[in-house]
Amino acid sequence: MHSLSYVSENSHSAWATYLAQVERVLPHLGDLSRWADTLRHPKRALIVDIPLEMDDGTVRHFEGFRVQHNLSRGPGKGGVRYHPDVNLEEVMALSAWMTIKCAALNLPFGGAKGGIRVDPRELSIKELERLTRRYTSEIGNIIGPQQDIPAPDVGTNPQVMAWMMDTWSMNVGATSTGVVTGKPIHLGGSLGRVKATGRGVFVTGTAMAERIGLKVQGCCVAVQGFGNVGSVAASLFSEAGAKVIVIQDHSATVLNDDGLDIAALIAWQQQYGCIAGFPGGRTISSDDFWLQGFDILIPAALEGQITAERANTLQCRLILEGANGPTLPEADDILLARDITVIPDVICNAGGVTVSYFEWVQDFSSFFWNEEEINARLDQIMTQALDAVWQKARALDVTLRTAAYAVACERILIARQERGLYP
Ligand code: NAD
Repeated sequence: MHSLSYVSENSHSAWATYLAQVERVLPHLGDLSRWADTLRHPKRALIVDIPLEMDDGTVRHFEGFRVQHNLSRGPGKGGVRYHPDVNLEEVMALSAWMTIKCAALNLPFGGAKGGIRVDPRELSIKELERLTRRYTSEIGNIIGPQQDIPAPDVGTNPQVMAWMMDTWSMNVGATSTGVVTGKPIHLGGSLGRVKATGRGVFVTGTAMAERIGLKVQGCCVAVQGFGNVGSVAASLFSEAGAKVIVIQDHSATVLNDDGLDIAALIAWQQQYGCIAGFPGGRTISSDDFWLQGFDILIPAALEGQITAERANTLQCRLILEGANGPTLPEADDILLARDITVIPDVICNAGGVTVSYFEWVQDFSSFFWNEEEINARLDQIMTQALDAVWQKARALDVTLRTAAYAVACERILIARQERGLYP
């Protein structure tokens, strides 16, 4: 078995999950599989030390990462995560999933990702700004509008992107809005970007529900993670007449069999920073989240949540992967055997990178589109990508995940082959 010297033997790591997913597509790549090893090798991985002067005058050091997994089809694209569990292998896997996602959607990008091993909730706003600016400077020589374009992910937001854009611009001596996406609207951000990932989950989810004969109106939905992705997906399903009966975040799991009031929960979260204590439902244990009966499950938090054990007992018909890498490979097999349909992350949560692509294009042309235009283009790209993957899955008789990898890897490896090896 192939391995990199800097990768652990942990078979449940996000990188191991990604490699297992690649393994499944190899038999379907024909002659292109000759180039497939490139998918197992991140092109570039940068580890940086970020010294930060805290408000109390002490100095702490944080680990920062930026990985460019594959740039065969275009500049790197991928978010920046601030979370205490961030590590090199996780960032590698997240960057690789971006390579697959951009190719599956046919966006002209390669895959990249970054992160800092930090709990942003423990920092003051000024400390967060200094951390972000130093991180941006440290990775500054490998990012850029034509090289690699960061965006928000877990623990980061439009304000963090504004600081990144400003720092990079200061360092190069010119305002460069296209260096990051997911920026505030006044700084070259795109309308529709904040809701784009959740919207993509909803658009692909409703299209798939129709295909498998599941009526969204009145169906029961469970959502893990109530951040940028989970809260938007929950509101759109709720507005479409579904009952969102259970939601889990890092603080609590809240259940209401009649359907949670999502607008009220969002208002609660804005006030208290989490869903714990919400009076519109009862709190259950985090393990019980997985044992509730529902039709649609939306994991929208972190990787590795749907284990084999959970896959064996889950009572649902459709899983919409809002999060990156929420399902372990052995769980995929069980879900297939149990006839539970999974829209894989590389399609389901691609709404964010699709509108990031629109933002990048708008920044380059300095011409901005209205929200209807953006949503219409987003819906069209997402449903077309889902259709292509559905057809591929039927043609190859494989899961939607392997089909998405087949569509994506063909594009990546053809690009690799046509460019040839340098020198
Ligand atoms: P976020 O920081 O806005 O929200 C994360 C949510 O997950 C929070 O509600 C948090 O409380 C919850 N959470 C954290 N740890 C948890 C745990 N152990 N159990 C239950 N809940 C937990 O992040 P986000 O941007 O919504 O991203 C969520 C997922 O979606 C990530 O996997 C991310 O990579 C993926 N994603 C995000 C985007 C985007 O545009 N933001 C795009 C594609 C994919």
